[in-house]
Amino acid sequence: MACQRVRDIRERQKSGNIQIRVLRKWILKGKKEELCYQFCDVHGDCIEATADAKHIEYFNSMIQLQSCYRVSGYICVGPRSYMATVDHPASLIIGQKAKFDRIEANDIPTSYFNFATYDTLKTRIRNLSVLSDYIGRVEKNGLRPTSTGKTLLKTLLRDEMEQEIEITFWPDKLHLIGDDVVPGDVVAISSAKVTEYNGHIQLESTHLTTAVKNPDMLQAVEHVQRLRALPAMQDIARNEPTVTLLDLEIISQQKVQSSRNFTCEATITRINDNRAWYYVLCSKCSNKLYQEHDNGNIVFVCKDDENIVPNFRYCVNATITDATASAEAVFFNESIKTMLNINCEDMVTNYGQLTNPNKVPEILESITNTPRMLHLTLKNDGQIAVNDVTNLAESSDIQSTGTASRTSTITPLTPIPVPNISKRQLLQTPDAGTEKRQRRA
Ligand SMILES: [Zn+2]
Repeated sequence: MACQRVRDIRERQKSGNIQIRVLRKWILKGKKEELCYQFCDVHGDCIEATADAKHIEYFNSMIQLQSCYRVSGYICVGPRSYMATVDHPASLIIGQKAKFDRIEANDIPTSYFNFATYDTLKTRIRNLSVLSDYIGRVEKNGLRPTSTGKTLLKTLLRDEMEQEIEITFWPDKLHLIGDDVVPGDVVAISSAKVTEYNGHIQLESTHLTTAVKNPDMLQAVEHVQRLRALPAMQDIARNEPTVTLLDLEIISQQKVQSSRNFTCEATITRINDNRAWYYVLCSKCSNKLYQEHDNGNIVFVCKDDENIVPNFRYCVNATITDATASAEAVFFNESIKTMLNINCEDMVTNYGQLTNPNKVPEILESITNTPRMLHLTLKNDGQIAVNDVTNLAESSDIQSTGTASRTSTITPLTPIPVPNISKRQLLQTPDAGTEKRQRRA
């Protein structure tokens, strides 16, 4: 019996037989629970199949993940209309009549991606009928705490057409891409949903999302080569408008619904010690960790997980100042790491105090009084989050490509005319002195 191509299957077509590998399996919760599969044939084309989850044991005994089968006795119907992982005009229903004969077929691919272009993503904004696969080169990758105490991972990808798109990994998917993913790596993502934020297309992980760093499967190889050949990030100007702190103050009064990114040249004038300068997350679930005394030592524990590793992250609350105004800002992990070249865990271990996370180590104070380019997000509640910094020498290199509006960044900006201009004076001002004494108390 001739074998049918998965690509050619259409709704209401009489069942033939297909030779496939079972790539994925998941349960779709809804009015009726469904057992869903993704089948791939030797040509690398995929189709979804669904079965009644009531009979899960029966199907589990018959169908193994990554095994290959000759399948017949299925019913051809239209595509699933909610979060389909494959863009195919049909899907299969499998019931008690379906037959699965095990075959050996090493030539059937073991993974499936159907990378969407940027233009395709545009047609899928907030459309949950089909999910999207995407591939790009990592330009930025970092954890971001939310105002509700969760932690998200934001990864900025650049595709082959040099379009930039940010993907948000929700807490249940933080494990997919770790801190070891660095700018220059290529990442392939499956089954993401497309949303729009402030006019920019974004991707968000779903419970079906997978991610592969530097993929080597056939569908990805050419993409990886082209992405690696793209010019380096620093040759491309960031498309963040450059503003002053006064501009930011005015913009934040405009009550825009979404956050926006800006670049601002400013100086950290004071680290605020009424808030902790770091936080600690669980390596398994990324929730906040608690301290426990254990034989005179302090250990970090998670309310859910055993055998965890504490993950230290900077979140330094500080006052920033430029010639026009001052503002409060939160400096997140990457920005502090860039300035001090020391990761948060080493800083806490060597210079910090576990029992007093507000006590700012002297070495951390050294980030003050140097003007820098701050790459920040103005949140809709007015909060300023600094995600990254560049030293003025570096940023003037970037700007010499002629894309930025500022003509000279080498001359440091004069801070606002308050007495505490120089480092020495700042430490000796009555205010700063009081702060120090309070911290030592
Ligand atoms: Zn945990």
